Amino acid sequence: MSDFKKLRQQMIDEQLKSRGLQDKAVLNALGKVPREKFTPTDLIESAYRDSPLPIAESQTISQPYIVALMTAALELKPDDRVLEVGTGSGYAAAVLGEICEHVYTIERYKTLADTAQLKLAKTGYGHVQVKHGDGTLGWVEQAPFDAIIVAAGGPEVPQTLKEQLAIGGRMVIPVGRSLNLQKLVRVRRISKDEYQTEDLGDVRFVPLVGAAGWKE
Ligand code: SAM
Repeated sequence: MSDFKKLRQQMIDEQLKSRGLQDKAVLNALGKVPREKFTPTDLIESAYRDSPLPIAESQTISQPYIVALMTAALELKPDDRVLEVGTGSGYAAAVLGEICEHVYTIERYKTLADTAQLKLAKTGYGHVQVKHGDGTLGWVEQAPFDAIIVAAGGPEVPQTLKEQLAIGGRMVIPVGRSLNLQKLVRVRRISKDEYQTEDLGDVRFVPLVGAAGWKE
């Protein structure tokens, strides 16, 4: 077993299962995606650390447990159409791409979007479609989505994203008026006009910057 494979298995046991994460598809996906390929080269030895890591443009690759928790909260089925807002390194998009065929991800920094696209193609997740733009506006041409995951914290749940959820669809997003602490919420679209919101706990994310997020 390679060192990274060993570290990945340790991550599954010590960071995910030990915290009660049981979703088989999610555990399987995090057990397969080579996180070291999405980590900046100078931090490759820390790829499986139990924390977020810095990437370019002062952004972060999220902590493995948070990626797992948010992905599990989406209750994904293999044929779901999934939108991610905040591609960052591309790691979480690869995890989504391991579970679902139809994955779309948007990043506001072109450098990050381009790098993630290359890495996704190289690691076997070329079916994940990457777009450079403001993800708070969603991806109209590909909507509706069965699942939307927002990897940055905004002041509120963007109305446009709610409208791009399919009936029965789930969105997981950190929200809150503080830039330092947010609530992770799951929004479920019950019917055309009815949404149900659940609190999944406190989290800390980089800001969601855009038309329906924080202003630059
Ligand atoms: N999912 C990423 C990963 O696996 O590496 C982690 C993402 S990082 C925590 C959040 C990302 O959201 C940053 O790359 C940031 O540039 C991006 N972001 C912030 N606001 C955005 C917006 N309105 N549209 C698209 N991306 C946005």
